Amino acid sequence: MEKVVVVHYGEIATKGKNREFFERKLINAIKRATGRKVRRKFGRIEVEYADSIAERLKKIPGIKYFGVGVKTGTDIEEIKKAAIRSLPDEFNSFKVETSRSNKNFPLNSIEINREVGAYIVERTGKGVNLRNPDVTVWIEVCDREVYVYTRKISGVGGLPVGVAGRVVSLVSGGIDSPVASFMAMKRGCEIVAVHFFNRTMHSPKVREKIKILAEKLAEYQGEVRLYMVPFYEIQLEIIKNVPARLRMIVYRRSMMRMANMIAEMEGCKAVITGDNLSQVASQTLDNLNVIYSASKLAVLPPLIGMDKEEIIEIARKIGTYDISILPYDDCCSFMIARHPETRANLEDVTKYESFDRLEREAIEKSEVEDVRVF
Ligand code: ATP
Ligand code: MG
Repeated sequence: MEKVVVVHYGEIATKGKNREFFERKLINAIKRATGRKVRRKFGRIEVEYADSIAERLKKIPGIKYFGVGVKTGTDIEEIKKAAIRSLPDEFNSFKVETSRSNKNFPLNSIEINREVGAYIVERTGKGVNLRNPDVTVWIEVCDREVYVYTRKISGVGGLPVGVAGRVVSLVSGGIDSPVASFMAMKRGCEIVAVHFFNRTMHSPKVREKIKILAEKLAEYQGEVRLYMVPFYEIQLEIIKNVPARLRMIVYRRSMMRMANMIAEMEGCKAVITGDNLSQVASQTLDNLNVIYSASKLAVLPPLIGMDKEEIIEIARKIGTYDISILPYDDCCSFMIARHPETRANLEDVTKYESFDRLEREAIEKSEVEDVRVF
């Protein structure tokens, strides 16, 4: 009887020909995050047990849920022993829930539930409760092995990182953009994080904050390439030439162009932002049209349909919230105009733009780091 974790991945199974590619990506992600032996089985993935493994698996996109328990042979007596072994020290009621993909096994699921259930009653004196048991014993009968567990843990869901391709994700240090990055990862994107920074009293703190955010995101992705792009010279130029009400839009268009340059170097196919409609002045439809039209690539804002409370809830769940609310703000927030434009017009804005050289230089001067936590 071997301690194992059995991983289920839901959505992959429906993807026809791509299935093997998806499974490969997920297996690699699991190997990397756990450092354990991983085996592909029919419709599931088996992982060698380790003490802290659940914490790691909980963060891997593509995993729907997993069971932590034991593996036995396809023999009812072994299954019974495994069931007893997997029970916690204290409980009053239980139920057994079997799924059987091995149609040659002599008992069907209901019969297995009954036999194992009766055995547990006999050995422990505890009662069966089908509606609201303290413990559920899950049994998965496969062709060559059987998994038995009472710890069933939900995963992140979604798709394995990388199956959709690479994207540039603009990470500001606020609450929203790390959540947007996570949402993109969960739909199969591998993110390259990009942050634009300036030189203020607080900039070392801001950079540290961005690095910690990238580390948090790396817990989900395995490794995050982080670009720190100096924005100071461009910002000065913009302040010199552009009326205050339009500056934020011009900043963000400049960021878009540079994001596209990085995307080209990194083979990325879209730009992710933390924009949320109507949340701040730059996020009206008119403004987003003007900002996004500076990008050749599709700009995808995963938070567009969410309320702030929903975003915060995810931020807390994924562990970025406490980092995001550290007081150091990114390069743009400290100089928001008193009356920013909310109905920008493209011609109005483009007449002030001639930052090609500065943007190229900023990209050349940017610092690149592969951030990883394991
Ligand atoms: P956030 O909470 O992510 O900062 P926000 O609601 O405060 O978002 P803005 O600050 O206007 O809105 O930024 C909108 C989006 O533009 C951010 O979510 C991010 O994707 C991008 N962005 C803004 N500033 C920067 C920056 N300095 N570096 C990288 N991306 C940025
Ligand atoms: Mg912000």
